[in-house]
Amino acid sequence: MHIASVGVSKVCFLFSLAFCGLLLMLIPALQPTTHHVDLPQPRPQIKTSPNTLQESFESPARGTVWTTVLNTNSRGLDGTIETEHGNDNYRETYSEKNSNIVSIPGGQDGILPGFASHDLLELKDIFIAVKTTRKYHKSRLELLIQTWISQAKEQTYIFTDGDDKELRMRTGANIINTNCSAAHTRQALCCKMSVEYDKFIESKKKWFCHVDDDNYVILPSLLRLLSSYHHSQDVYLGRPSLDHPIEAAERVKTDGLVSVKFWFATGGAGFCISRGLGLKMSPWASLGNFISTAEKIRLPDDCTIGYIIEALLEVTLIHTHLFHSHLENLQKLPTDNVLEQVTLSYGGYENRRNVVSIVAGFSLAEDPTRFKTVHCLLYPDTDWCPKLKSKN
Ligand code: UDP
Ligand code: MN
Repeated sequence: MHIASVGVSKVCFLFSLAFCGLLLMLIPALQPTTHHVDLPQPRPQIKTSPNTLQESFESPARGTVWTTVLNTNSRGLDGTIETEHGNDNYRETYSEKNSNIVSIPGGQDGILPGFASHDLLELKDIFIAVKTTRKYHKSRLELLIQTWISQAKEQTYIFTDGDDKELRMRTGANIINTNCSAAHTRQALCCKMSVEYDKFIESKKKWFCHVDDDNYVILPSLLRLLSSYHHSQDVYLGRPSLDHPIEAAERVKTDGLVSVKFWFATGGAGFCISRGLGLKMSPWASLGNFISTAEKIRLPDDCTIGYIIEALLEVTLIHTHLFHSHLENLQKLPTDNVLEQVTLSYGGYENRRNVVSIVAGFSLAEDPTRFKTVHCLLYPDTDWCPKLKSKN
């Protein structure tokens, strides 16, 4: 009897110990998930040469991104990115519950992937999409082809709405006729973005960057910025045009409208998405799904990108001031910093003189957008650039 009661209290003691242990284990799970949608992210710390995995992981920007990966999983999505070393093979897998597994095999041109020191990002790893329309081929696109696109011809794809064989033949640019409508409507713009997305996935490149045809891309800065992240992480980089998240009415299956708030990077300043995140967007963005997703919130292409990433995948936009649209006063950009920016723009309806204040070799009449000036400062050996005066 005595032995039995000792046994019972022992069992009770052990049971309460196990119960406390279980409670301790449950504490993190019971805590509300950290959801940063309303919080602007700090500008990422730029590293000129991320040498090792250890170094890369110590970057605060990377820490933030891994947090969002956990958020994604807590929502019930099963997103996995696998990086395999060896034999120059690289495999990415994304699976979502109740959906097909997307698996893209392929090599990466002899560069070993992963977090190794030799995994340095190269320009050819970036897919740059330029959105344009037939009527701007002469007035806007030609300037870009003459300037920054000439330095990234292989990986820059121009998405337009009309054939221009002459331009393609003359410049050798990758021009893709999306066959989308040439109107400046939400549907037409989303149609182009849908083609851009599919072409990026097809390209197997590590990063997707979208710009408009009134953007100059400073390629060395872009490379430097993207090098501080890894393409298998969830990275969405850009500049919001609003100082608050946009609020949209989301159409749901039960015929109702639900309010949804999210940040988005303005398309007019350009934005970039890592391949890891791009693959996760697939259920809402690939093969025409982008257009039906846009219809759910009835907002333009750049807002729809923000909706998929922030609202549906719960991955936070990393706000950066290195991207510029003509919605801001470009003259205010300090002259010393212009070449460190990632994108520039010009003009706008109200102010044709809204350009960066940089002067070198060209008058305003010769270079009203200042893109030629910027280009010649970056690539002074270009044949049409004014030759620097010799000091002797
Ligand atoms: N655009 C287009 N179809 C149009 C008009 C414009 O695809 O009918 C593209 C244009 O080439 C540019 C982007 O949409 O890349 C934004 O156009 P714009 O700069 O004229 O307007 P914003 O929105 O910047 O004021
Ligand atoms: Mn514009």
